[in-house]
Amino acid sequence: MQTGIPTRLWIAAVVLLLAAAAVAIGSGIGPALIALVGGGVALAIGRLASPVDEPTPAPAPPPPRDPVLPEALDQIVAPILLVRHGRVEFANRAAIALFGGHILGEDVRIAIRHPAAADRLASGTTGVDDRPIELTGLGTPDQRWEMRTGDVSDGRRIIQLIDRTGSYAAERMRVDFVANASHELRTPLASILGFIETLGDEAGEVPAVRARFLKVMFDEARRMQRLVEDLISLSRIEAEKFRLPNDPVDLGPLIEEICAELHAAGGQRGRDLVCKPAEGMPAVWGDRAQLSQVIHNLIGNAMKYGRAGTPVVIALGPTADNMVRLAVTDEGDGIAPEHVPRLTERFYRVDSGRSRSLGGTGLGLAIVKHIIERHRGRLDIGSKPGVGTTVAIILPAALSSRRNEGVTGPGA
Ligand code: ADP
Repeated sequence: MQTGIPTRLWIAAVVLLLAAAAVAIGSGIGPALIALVGGGVALAIGRLASPVDEPTPAPAPPPPRDPVLPEALDQIVAPILLVRHGRVEFANRAAIALFGGHILGEDVRIAIRHPAAADRLASGTTGVDDRPIELTGLGTPDQRWEMRTGDVSDGRRIIQLIDRTGSYAAERMRVDFVANASHELRTPLASILGFIETLGDEAGEVPAVRARFLKVMFDEARRMQRLVEDLISLSRIEAEKFRLPNDPVDLGPLIEEICAELHAAGGQRGRDLVCKPAEGMPAVWGDRAQLSQVIHNLIGNAMKYGRAGTPVVIALGPTADNMVRLAVTDEGDGIAPEHVPRLTERFYRVDSGRSRSLGGTGLGLAIVKHIIERHRGRLDIGSKPGVGTTVAIILPAALSSRRNEGVTGPGA
C-alpha cells in the first residue's frame, strides 16, 4: 500500500531522534531541543524538496464493451466483421448468413477466401488505403460485393461488404440496351444504303426493279421510324415514372374509340376485333394517352401473333379487390412458359425473324410494363401453346373524386 512517506524519510527521522538524545545526554535539554527543532525543519524541507516516489500507474482498464453493439450490428443488412490480430472476433447476422458460423475465430483471409480481399487484409492497418475492393463469387456466383475496411482505435479492424449486385445489373442492362438499340437501327440503315447504291447503277434504270427497291427502302425506313418512336416513348415514360397519373379515365369509352378507329382502318384483322367492355365500370386513375398506347400495343400484338381470321377479344371487367381488369385475348400459337417472364425485357422476342417481318420493334411489352408500373397496376400474361394468349392489365379504380381519398389500390 502507498503511504505517501518514503522509507528514506523514516530512516532520517530515526537518525535525528538518536542525535537529539545523544546531545541531551552530553549537553543538557536546551541544545537538544534546538537540534530536534532544527532537524525537524530540515526534514520538512527535505520532504518538500525531494519528490515523493511516484506510484506506478495502473494499466488503463479496457474500454467498456457496449452490450448492445453486437445486437445493433446484427440489424445492419450488410455483412460486417470485426477482426482482432487477423482473426474474426465478431460477425453480424448477415456475415454469418454469407460465410457461415465457422468463421468466428478463423483467420479472416481464410474466412473471406478471396484473393483480392486477402491482399488487402494482409496489408496491416488500412489507414493508408481505404479504396473499396470489388469481390465476385461470394454467395451466389453472380453476386457482386464491394469490400471496405477501416481501423477502430482499440486496434480492431472493421470489414463491411456492400451488395452491389443490383447496381451492377442495372449498369449491364443500360449497356446492353444501347448496344441492342444501335444494332436494331444499324440493320435497316445498312439495307437502305445498299439499295441507294444499287439504284445508282444500271439496275435503277429498270422501272420494275426501281419500284421494288424503293418499296424495300420505304419499309426499312418505316421500321427505323417505329423504333425511334418507341425509344422516345420509353424514355418519356421512364422520365415520368415517379409522377402518379391522377386523372380519372373511363376505359369503356376509350376501348370503344380504339375499336372504332381500327375497324375504320379496314383490313381483315380490324374486322376480327370483338370489343366487350362491361357497363358501369368505375374509372381508373390514369394518363389517357398512355393507356391508349397500352391498348394499341396489346391489340397490335394479338392481331400480329393471333391466327388470321380468328377473333381478338377485348374485355373489361371488375376484379374481386376493387380493381379494373382489361384483357386482350387471341387465338394464336401461344407462348412457351419459359419465355413468359422475359417478354417485358427490352428487345426480347420469342422469334426475332417473325417479329421483324410483322413490323415488331421488340419494345411493345416493355412500354406496356413501364406504363402500368407508373399507374401502380399489374400486368398478367397467360398463354397456352397452340391455343392462344391473354394479356391483361389490372388498374386501381378511381372510387373517390380525388386520388388518395378513397380505396385506390396498392401503392396509391
Ligand atoms: P414485338 O414488337 O416483337 O411484338 P413486344 O415487346 O410487343 O415486341 O413483344 C415481345 C415478344 O412477345 C414478341 O416478339 C412475341 O414473341 C411475344 N408476344 C407478344 N404478344 C404475343 C401474343 N399475343 N402471342 C404470342 N406471342 C406474343
